[in-house]
Amino acid sequence: MKHVDVLVVGGGIAGASVGYFLAPSRRVLLIERESGYGYHTSGRSAAEWTSCHFDGIMRAVVLYGRPFLDAPPAGFADRPLLERRGNLMFALEGGEEQADAFYAQALPDNPGLVSLNAEEVRAIVPYLRTELIRRAIWDPENCEIDVDGLHQGFLRGLRAAGGETRAGVEFLGAERTGGMWHARIGEERLTADVIVDAAGAWGDTVAQLCGVAPLGLEPRRRTAFTYDPGFDATGVPAIDEMGSGFYFKSSGPVLLVSPGDQTPSVPCDAQPEEYDLAVAVDQLETLTTLQVQKMKSRWAGLRTFTRDEHPVAGFDEQTPGFFWLVGQGGGGIMSASGLGDLAARIITADGWPESAQRLNLTAESLSPARVR
Ligand SMILES: Cc1cc2nc3c(=O)[nH]c(=O)nc-3n(C[C@H](O)[C@H](O)[C@H](O)COP(=O)(O)OP(=O)(O)OC[C@H]3O[C@@H](n4cnc5c(N)ncnc54)[C@H](O)[C@@H]3O)c2cc1C
Repeated sequence: MKHVDVLVVGGGIAGASVGYFLAPSRRVLLIERESGYGYHTSGRSAAEWTSCHFDGIMRAVVLYGRPFLDAPPAGFADRPLLERRGNLMFALEGGEEQADAFYAQALPDNPGLVSLNAEEVRAIVPYLRTELIRRAIWDPENCEIDVDGLHQGFLRGLRAAGGETRAGVEFLGAERTGGMWHARIGEERLTADVIVDAAGAWGDTVAQLCGVAPLGLEPRRRTAFTYDPGFDATGVPAIDEMGSGFYFKSSGPVLLVSPGDQTPSVPCDAQPEEYDLAVAVDQLETLTTLQVQKMKSRWAGLRTFTRDEHPVAGFDEQTPGFFWLVGQGGGGIMSASGLGDLAARIITADGWPESAQRLNLTAESLSPARVR
């Protein structure tokens, strides 16, 4: 029977990242049920990197992983993984207090934030109806992430270091006996010292297949569409209405628009609802002078949250050898380089980096015990 040190369940960005950081020192097998690695949430994101939309653990993990994105190892990617775009956040009538509180709270950690007047807003987004805007904040640090470049870089690096990735292989369950896992994957059986649960919305399902108590993960559906606005939208920054969560930004030459919905869902192949798409169109046409004639593409994906809405990377407290890597919510792409690295360090008991300590990141703060 085949034996691996670590069996990673889930080939999205979370599984790929931890597999990448583990493969140089451990025999890793990553399995993905779908025929492609980015079929679920990792292939459905808005590709944003931001330092000011999060606080606490998520923010720290995102910042810890930033140097990797700025300067990945040679050969990891054939073009830069980040491109600076900026982010305009604005508040409508009634949202002034929320915007002021956000600005006051976020400014010390994000000294680049500036408050803009209507004229300055028009200079950045001429088609925004500035008469509706009561507050506007500009974050120059917001970036576009090359999601596919990052995901493929992790998978390529994992294989180059001797690890194995298999798509179209479902994890069916495992029992722990004799100090190791006896797992069923597709038609095959194998043994593993550690199982990493990187199954996204199915995190609790995979745990239960191993006899591990669920963490109470909550997948929430988010919808998006793209359309051709009639001009080249390349480089349009991320533009967010702070009250509803509605946002739009460039996606190559077209615009990506999302109502910012977060509807609780069972784990599934999420599909966009007509209602959510209509809300997004209505918001865009109300807040800008743009009109949506025809959508180019539309989709929905599941952002999966823990109870405190921060990610978890750690061994289950009850079941030896079961490692959770879940709950990345709306930041799983931008946090993958940081969280994947720290998850691998916890698994291998490698030293804890000083840069993580400086951000108050500890193995305890990432542990599933935090959200039990
Ligand atoms: C509309 C939208 C916009 C977003 N925008 C951003 C953004 O701008 N920036 C950002 O950082 N994040 C964003 N996110 C969040 C980000 O996409 C997620 O946090 C991230 O993709 C989660 O990655 P994952 O690997 O955990 O999950 P997934 O990509 O879903 O991967 C989990 C994988 O596990 C597999 N799996 C499940 N069960 C099994 C099994 N039994 N056997 C084998 N395989 C299994 C699934 O098939 C799946 O492929 C957005 C999400 C959405 C939906």
